Amino acid sequence: MSSTTKTTSALRIIIHRGSHQIGGSCVEIASDSTRLILDAGTPLDPSVSAAPLVVPGLFSDGPPVAALLLSHAHPDHSGLLPLVRKEIPVWLTRGTSKMLLAGKKFAAGVYLSKERSKIVEPGERKEIGDFAVTAYSVDHSIYGSVAWLIEHGNTRVLYSGDLRMRGRKEGMTRALVKALAGRPLDALLLEGTHLSRDARSPCVKERQLETTITDLLRDAPALTLAMFSPQNLDRLVTFYKAARRTKRIFVVDLYTAFIMHLLHSEVEIPLPTAEAGMRVFFPTYRPRNIGDIERRFAASRIELGEITAEPRRFLMLARASMLDHDFTGGLPEKTRALYSQWNGYRKRKDQVGFERALAACGGELIECHTSGHATVDDLVKLIGHLAPRCIIPMHTERPERMRELVPNVRIAHDGEVIQI
Ligand SMILES: [Zn+2]
Repeated sequence: MSSTTKTTSALRIIIHRGSHQIGGSCVEIASDSTRLILDAGTPLDPSVSAAPLVVPGLFSDGPPVAALLLSHAHPDHSGLLPLVRKEIPVWLTRGTSKMLLAGKKFAAGVYLSKERSKIVEPGERKEIGDFAVTAYSVDHSIYGSVAWLIEHGNTRVLYSGDLRMRGRKEGMTRALVKALAGRPLDALLLEGTHLSRDARSPCVKERQLETTITDLLRDAPALTLAMFSPQNLDRLVTFYKAARRTKRIFVVDLYTAFIMHLLHSEVEIPLPTAEAGMRVFFPTYRPRNIGDIERRFAASRIELGEITAEPRRFLMLARASMLDHDFTGGLPEKTRALYSQWNGYRKRKDQVGFERALAACGGELIECHTSGHATVDDLVKLIGHLAPRCIIPMHTERPERMRELVPNVRIAHDGEVIQI
């Protein structure tokens, strides 16, 4: 990959983790004088990669790191933030900052102080040392996700982060391709989740999913529960629209209400009020220090008794933890749960218990999900549009499969130095 025609010194790319696994991503792109780190995630399954991540200068002493750039707030990309040296600035979008804030308030997530946060607008080119970096919005299952373009002299590398092309903002990928057109990429670090997972995940468009969920709501015999992550803005809108179309009241929890409050100023999303066809449930199991958030939504509060008295009027966001803390007498008769996240999470102990309770009430769980990751076909299409000189697949268990699909694939190994 090294070129004698370049006017600038060579770049080094090191996938510290993620060359052969989904989650726990951490990539370094370095020149002779500046080191950038992209993402610092915790593995999805710690038993798979128990070895601690070693990146000189990121967590402890070592050569300086100029910046940590986050692609999005999912823990498998950002979960190691608390261990990152405090003097390293963290570059991220306002959306990712807000998603981290919501996670911190409700799920003991990562705290990132304002002083350390370098908020970037998508499309805005910024300089860090001898690099120029630009974040581009991408379609993924959490608000605020971006890919990062890293430029050093004439050399250009794109780190895709996680992305798909089936969401509500169909123009997002087109805009990314358009922005990068004209000059080829020297390397594309591309997520390839579905190179190893595609057989297990249906991949309909978000708008098709809305139709499916609407139909399932229409013929649901009793209470319908929605099980999904509200950080997935597309999915939140999908459930809200399906509820509106079937004239059900959409009941969200405080966490979701807070996310809607945070995003109301960013995108066209209503606040969770009765006028908007929504109510807010205050789960028994919730953080103790969120009085300000509780007061904000007090006027929209709904009690469980009101829901169970007329269950067909509602679509209620639910989590497995509500079974023990809120539905203490078991789930209402014939409850239908619409499960709308990665089905790998169904193995979790509390989810297994929840599904047992569903069966006991004569209810059912129906999977209605579409993945936050690009299908293999969509990956190939994106590569065709971007025409990179070199593709380095990552965030997959089977990067080698990319070689069967497109030319110019470079298989990396964790810790290996790749010269560009
Ligand atoms: Zn992700």
